[in-house]
Amino acid sequence: MGCLEKLLTFRKGGVHPSPNKELTEALPIETMPVSRELAVVMSQHIGAPAEALVKKGDVIEEGQLIADVKKGLGTTIAAPWKGKVKALGKAGHPVRIEMPAILIETSQDEAAHYEVHPWHELSPDELLDLVHQAGVVGAGGAGFPTHVKLRPPKDASISELIINGAECEPYLTADHRLMLEDAAKIIEGIKIMMAILGVKKCFVGIEDNKPDAIIAMTKAADKSDIVIAPLKTKYPQGGEKQLVYAITGRRIGSGALPASVGVVVQNVATAYAVYEAVVMHKPMIERIVTVSGKGIKRPANLRVRIGTRVSDIIEYLGGLQNDVKKVILGGPMMGFATSDLSTPVTKTTSGILFLTADEVDLREGGTCVRCGWCLDACPMGLEPKEIALYVEAGKGKETAKFGTLDCFECGSCAFVCPAKRPLVQLIRIAKQNLRHQ
Ligand code: SF4
Ligand code: SF4
Repeated sequence: MGCLEKLLTFRKGGVHPSPNKELTEALPIETMPVSRELAVVMSQHIGAPAEALVKKGDVIEEGQLIADVKKGLGTTIAAPWKGKVKALGKAGHPVRIEMPAILIETSQDEAAHYEVHPWHELSPDELLDLVHQAGVVGAGGAGFPTHVKLRPPKDASISELIINGAECEPYLTADHRLMLEDAAKIIEGIKIMMAILGVKKCFVGIEDNKPDAIIAMTKAADKSDIVIAPLKTKYPQGGEKQLVYAITGRRIGSGALPASVGVVVQNVATAYAVYEAVVMHKPMIERIVTVSGKGIKRPANLRVRIGTRVSDIIEYLGGLQNDVKKVILGGPMMGFATSDLSTPVTKTTSGILFLTADEVDLREGGTCVRCGWCLDACPMGLEPKEIALYVEAGKGKETAKFGTLDCFECGSCAFVCPAKRPLVQLIRIAKQNLRHQ
């Protein structure tokens, strides 16, 4: 159905951080050789952590199911490579600091070969089952199990699938490169998700700072019900509520999901993973990661096996340089800083940034000067200043009236704050207070 002509965007707030994508946007995706040891953490998705199905000494095949969630929300984890279980131990985790992990000593063998399977004759339930078995999770950030998201509540009448190709976080170019290099597979993955949901309409939102990706995706979507929707370059254009508003004009209420306005949102890398799960019967055992910042000798867009440690990636890319001040897993706005370079890549690691002094603001946070900039920047219309002041006064439990639980931690408020207040950290504390209540 082609490409919309009008540039779409969200209504409220938003910021324009330096894109800093030039370090990697022209670099083709490169496959990193598998490391000698992989550390597969048991928490790679929203919900309950998975439990290991293997024990020390077990010989495992690539793609073999090695962990699953027995109770509650979750999904499967497959072996990223052939080898031997060295130990059931622990490894660093981007959010939870440390988590149980399966440590795999990898073999020297070649990667497994996956045959192509026709899927058009399969029922929605059979397609959904393949997505579940493959352990696909939202690759764009939070890691919500995809098979759950593709089965919205029965009373939700879903009319559209929206695909997030915005990649609005500075530095990150993994989705951009995937759209350029594998547009046809992404489109096939989208068609599979449309078949599961039974919808006839799909929009793919892509920021207009990626014109080549807009062209590649429009070409690949030719003669289909998939429409490419160029979006204004503005952060956080890829936020779920912002994306849905930009494309459909519908507002998702406080605490509600996109399904409440008839929409399911997925990311382009998730669509690619769905293609691999259904067409190749390949589990989610690798992902594309942007490795960037002035602190890494050779920036790259790398295809790495899940469980590859940051330290191995540094070694592969020639080491560090220029006195790195901060290492971030994810993008600079919503990612998590880490000091543990043995932390492994998970299904949701979109980037690893090695930032130097001139790329980070190292000033200490100060007192609020009541400028109100954070209110203007917040795309959710919240009051970050008030939430932060309440938390500092020990009144985090009284912040619900400022919309605390609607904060999705985009970091726009902290980005504009002239006093460098740690607004996101304080809002996280307020959210914890409210949830405990
Ligand atoms: S981090 Fe939360 S409060 Fe701050 S701008 Fe984003 S949504 Fe608003
Ligand atoms: S931007 Fe910072 S200084 Fe200004 S009102 Fe918000 S918290 Fe206070």
